[in-house]
Amino acid sequence: MDKDVITVTSPLLPDLEEFNKMLRQIWNNKWMTNNGTFHQQLEKALCEYLKVPYISLFTNGTLPLITALQALNISGEVITTPYSFVATTHSLWWNGIKPVFVDIDPATGGIDPERLEAAITPRTTAIMPVHVYGKPCRTAEIQAIADKYGLRVIYDAAHAFGVEVDGKSILAEGDMSTLSFHATKVYNTAEGGALIMRDAKMKQRIDYLKNFGFAGETEVVAPGINGKMDEIRAAYGLLNLRQVDACIEARRQVAVRYREALRPVEGIDFWDDMPGVRHNYSYFPIFVDADKYGMSRDELYFKLRDQGIWARRYFYPLISSFSTYRGLPSATRENLPNATRMADTVICLPIHHELTDADITRILKCIISSYSKKQK
Ligand SMILES: *Cc1c(COP(=O)(O)O)cnc(C)c1O
Repeated sequence: MDKDVITVTSPLLPDLEEFNKMLRQIWNNKWMTNNGTFHQQLEKALCEYLKVPYISLFTNGTLPLITALQALNISGEVITTPYSFVATTHSLWWNGIKPVFVDIDPATGGIDPERLEAAITPRTTAIMPVHVYGKPCRTAEIQAIADKYGLRVIYDAAHAFGVEVDGKSILAEGDMSTLSFHATKVYNTAEGGALIMRDAKMKQRIDYLKNFGFAGETEVVAPGINGKMDEIRAAYGLLNLRQVDACIEARRQVAVRYREALRPVEGIDFWDDMPGVRHNYSYFPIFVDADKYGMSRDELYFKLRDQGIWARRYFYPLISSFSTYRGLPSATRENLPNATRMADTVICLPIHHELTDADITRILKCIISSYSKKQK
């Protein structure tokens, strides 16, 4: 890649020599997958780091979504958010479930609990919210509605690695939460993911389901899938876990600089940290008000792009506007005004552990120069 290009993120990579030592162990053991030692070690280490009771590792962050729905026998309709990565809704589709889109709360970017009840029908069985950008959803209100109607809650927490509210993991909310360890995420194993559950029985069921449904050598208890993480990526994950805190701190410092510099810029909105929340700074979304800023979101996006700054429009377009889903009754712009506005104004600025002061200055200059031109 062009050296002058600034990408939206950069993968956290383990030290190659350390990784090589672990690879040598794998080579010696010749145990490549199926609950190997590094797989077991990583599950244990992640439970401790994330402060969750049970976790099951997967090959990516999409299979845990699909598997959670299978494990809980979810069918009929599931209420979800259109403001996410497309895998959230795809996981419903792959289970023959009809997605019902509900608008978001502009204060969190997550599903709006106040709009949930109106979307519930006799066919509704679950809610699938997303902690988008790692910002906690209004979990207490969501749970209260789920309890009232007897619905399951599965959180797509792909962005929420390490996020805590008042010292408690956000991943402990709902019936289950999923994580993605894709290379673009704060904590990565190149490809990878996990499912977090509340009890040992569900952990057992998920472990069967991710291994074709095998419970022992000759018994298959359910039509499972192959979702097992291999030893190579588990080793990579163990090494990355040691440095993820430093990575999150480096990201936090980038966020501090962005906020300081962009606060006076009219027409550029962003979020501050939420009180009591340990954020992971996985994304830094800004929202462009074209009238106030003097340039549209897309104009700014392409200006950044021209200058080698590869910011991203996460999440544009909305999932509900893709061809598979746009025909659904809940997919209209009228039903989703807040999500539509957010998708039309958002730019996620580069944020990662290797971003230099010079990079940040270059990005800020590009954003602030357009604004000052308008002021003259
Ligand atoms: C990345 C992501 C996924 C999918 O994870 P993969 O590991 O790429 O399969 C699911 N949901 C959200 C919100 C994501 O950002």
